[in-house]
Order: sequence, then C-alpha cells, then structure tokens
Amino acid sequence: MNIRIKYLFLLLTASILFFGCFGKSDSDYLTVHMIDVGQGDSFLIKTPEGTSILIDGGSPQYGDDVVAYLKREKIQQIDYLIATHPHSDHIGGLVTVMNEFPVENLILPEVSHTSQLFESFLDTAFTTNVPLFPVKKSSRHSLEDEIFFDILHTGVHYGSHLNNWSVVLRLTHQEMSFLFTGDLESEAERDLLNQFSSKKLASEVLKVGHHGSNTSTTPAFLQVVSPQVALISCGINNQYGHPSTEVVNRLEESGVWIYRTDLQGTIVLYSDGYNVWSHQPPVNLDPISSSNVKPSFCGFFVNGVPLLTAHIIPFKKEVV
Ligand SMILES: [Zn+2]
Repeated sequence: MNIRIKYLFLLLTASILFFGCFGKSDSDYLTVHMIDVGQGDSFLIKTPEGTSILIDGGSPQYGDDVVAYLKREKIQQIDYLIATHPHSDHIGGLVTVMNEFPVENLILPEVSHTSQLFESFLDTAFTTNVPLFPVKKSSRHSLEDEIFFDILHTGVHYGSHLNNWSVVLRLTHQEMSFLFTGDLESEAERDLLNQFSSKKLASEVLKVGHHGSNTSTTPAFLQVVSPQVALISCGINNQYGHPSTEVVNRLEESGVWIYRTDLQGTIVLYSDGYNVWSHQPPVNLDPISSSNVKPSFCGFFVNGVPLLTAHIIPFKKEVV
C-alpha cells in the first residue's frame, strides 16, 4: 500500500471509530481525574449523572489548586470524600476543600494521628458539619445504574503504620473496574489477597500504591489485580525516588500502560462501562510498536502523536 492510500485508510478507520464510538460529549461518560498535586494524591471521579467522589486532596499547599480544579469541573458538592489515611500529602488539601464545598459523606480509616494537620482536618469536618464515616467493615455504595464502589476493608489493625490503614476503594462501571489503594504497602496488600477473591480485586485500572514506592505493588498483588493501566501520582524529581524503577519495570513486564503526574501533569480517563480511554497516550509504550502487547488497541498514533486528538482509546477490555 502506498503512503497516501495508507494514510487515507488510517483516516477513514479513525473517523469511523470517532463517529461510531464517540458521538457523545465528555459528560456522558464516567471520568476519573488524576489531579497533579506534586508529591501526593488527589483523584476526582464524576459519574454521567453528576455524582462526585474525591479521593484525597494532596498536601496543604495544593488545596487551592484542587478547589480550582473542582470548580472548573463544575463540581457543586462532593458526594463522597475519601481521606485514605492521615498523612499530609493526602489530607492536607482537604481542609481547603471542605471549607469550599458541601460534603455529603466523609469516609476515613478508623485511625488517629497526633499531627496538628490531622487535628485541623477533623476540626474543619466538625465545623463544616461534614458527616464522618470511619471504615469498620467492607461496604458497597451504589451511585447509579451499574455504577457502584466497594470499600474493601481487611479489618486488620496496623498500629502506627498509617500507610497500611489506607482506605481501599474499588469503583465499578459495568465491566470496568478501578482500584484505588492510597499508600497501601505489601503487608496490607497481602491481607487483601488473603481476604478477598481475585474477582473482587481484579481491575482494569490500578492506582499504584504509595506513589510507586517499592514498598507496594508486590508481584503477587499485581498478578491478581491484573490491571491494563497503572496510575502513578508523584512529584517531579521527588526526594523519595518515586516511582521506583523496580515497580515501573514490574508494571512494564506485565504489559501495563503507565500514566504519571510527574511527567504528564493531570490525567483524565473516560469510561463507557466497556472501554476506558484517555486523550493522553501513556508514557511507556508506543501503541503501534507494542500492538503485540495490546492487540485490542484501536486508536491511531503517528510518530507518537494521536491522529485524532480527541478520544483515543488506548486500551480495551480483552474478550475472554
Ligand atoms: Zn502518600
């Protein structure tokens, strides 16, 4: 096939995909936003009917950025606010968030911390009348038709090891699942594996635990979750060396596509319940050269640049 015909073929196929798959606007889909908060975590989930979940809010200095982002996304109230654990890079920005938005439910682990920040976080929740729900057991929360999230609680007490207390949330949108693990480390990952079936843990998208640290994402955990995409939230040139080369290599060897805030800034994923996609390509794989790894890829890139900049599907659930 000569170059011109090849190009026209690509354009035609991409157009069919674009108009066939994407005759809707962004607000018709469930969206997952990995907000760039430097070395920290903050994730916004919006359902098609407008239910909002915010998981963490980054460090205190990122509170204003998170609030500005939520306002740009036309958020008027937060239906579920998840404070995964009391470390400042997760709850810091939530003080500003709670002062700006009404919060319907605040879900947090049943653990305390002596820091001044944690005290001010709780004070703000009380003074703004935010209802607190400490996690005591696993639970399911239905949001819309075929959209729900599960809190996966091991019931194990981890003492002063706050990372392992992280609230674990698995969001399901029809056939797509997203697993958010906060800063969970290997000990708590092992407890999850012991207490929940692989069906309960397997997810297309994994929010990589503890910013990609080598304390988390053990081979056994990765094998069971079996994600196709990994989300890593960390600061550029951070002092901890996150993400660790070991974890990045482990993900790549498993054929997982990686998105990183330190290299790409804020990332948005879209779900229609059967596919998940992003406007941005992942950092680690050129979809054309790696088509053997992800045979179900149906987006088109030319020299690494999306042929159509809107709604490229970087991966699709494999039909078993
Ligand atoms: Zn953290």
